Amino acid sequence: MILTLKPKSTKKDIDLVCKKIKELGFKPHISQGKEVTIIGVIGPHAILKKDIFESMDAVAFITPISKPYKLVSREFKKNDTVVKVGNLQIGSRNIIVAAGPCSVETEELLVTTAKVIKNSGAKMIRGGAFKPRTSPYAFQGLGEKGLKYLYGIKKNLGLPVITEVMNVSQVGLVSRYADVIQIGARNMQNFDLLKKVGKIRKPVLLKRGLSATIEEFLMSAEYILSEGNYDVILCERGIRTFETATRFTLDLNAVPAIKKLSHLPVFVDPSHGVGVRDYVPAMCKAAVACGADGLMVEVHPHPEKAFSDGPQSLLPQQFDKMMSELKSVAKAVGRKI
Ligand code: PEP
Ligand code: MN
Repeated sequence: MILTLKPKSTKKDIDLVCKKIKELGFKPHISQGKEVTIIGVIGPHAILKKDIFESMDAVAFITPISKPYKLVSREFKKNDTVVKVGNLQIGSRNIIVAAGPCSVETEELLVTTAKVIKNSGAKMIRGGAFKPRTSPYAFQGLGEKGLKYLYGIKKNLGLPVITEVMNVSQVGLVSRYADVIQIGARNMQNFDLLKKVGKIRKPVLLKRGLSATIEEFLMSAEYILSEGNYDVILCERGIRTFETATRFTLDLNAVPAIKKLSHLPVFVDPSHGVGVRDYVPAMCKAAVACGADGLMVEVHPHPEKAFSDGPQSLLPQQFDKMMSELKSVAKAVGRKI
């Protein structure tokens, strides 16, 4: 439930309401607007205590939240959330493209890739140092060495880094090097990991699970917000269907659906969604057209030699062409790239 406080409520009023919320065993989540302060009362069956809050002087009115996710919902926050990463504003008019190899392989390759993507207009570098692979015999990532290479790109080329964390014990290490922490599709319901990244003060990009419904996806984001980290970017990356011509089925329905249900920014990752290099540009355009706030795209200068996901990685020239074509699509929907 949401408590909307009377205009001109003081800090003392807010403290008093928060104290009552805690006394009753719930968590307060304050959202301070220019005119009014609203406080989310989060916890099971909070609505049953509605009368207690109604009788408080500072409370103007109470709104129940009908969805199982609360902090993530549009009901809780009407305006779009903008996640700041350095100078970038994710969820604003500007569409942000994060690009790079699937895995960090060698420093030289990473630097080459970073230069070409930056030159084509990408604003962030992506690359896995810890890789969730289907086979235990496949390349598992360079670990900390890979994180250091990524950090070097940020320092030398100014591209913020987005990279994956696979388990709770890696969170401290990865957040020392990364600007945005990625939670992979296979970990979308690793609730301990979600709680852990909810406690840090770094933006999190949460990927949709291979078979997760939109509601389950939003419930996972709720875990992160409920621990106090409000900087969450949701990423649609394709779901499992009966189709085998593509690696997954990129569910672009999720973009307008999530935009309606939640205030959080939405990225789309067509590389994993389709799994076929030649289909990626068309789906990037479609993602921008349907309202995505950003894209995550795999690019590799020699995809035939890539340690992972070569078949879906764009060649630098394909990426460059796509980036210029995206400009007019973005313009057509009132955005900028
Ligand atoms: C990735 O981004 O390289 C990755 C492993 O993605 P996903 O978790 O969506 O499969
Ligand atoms: Mn990949």
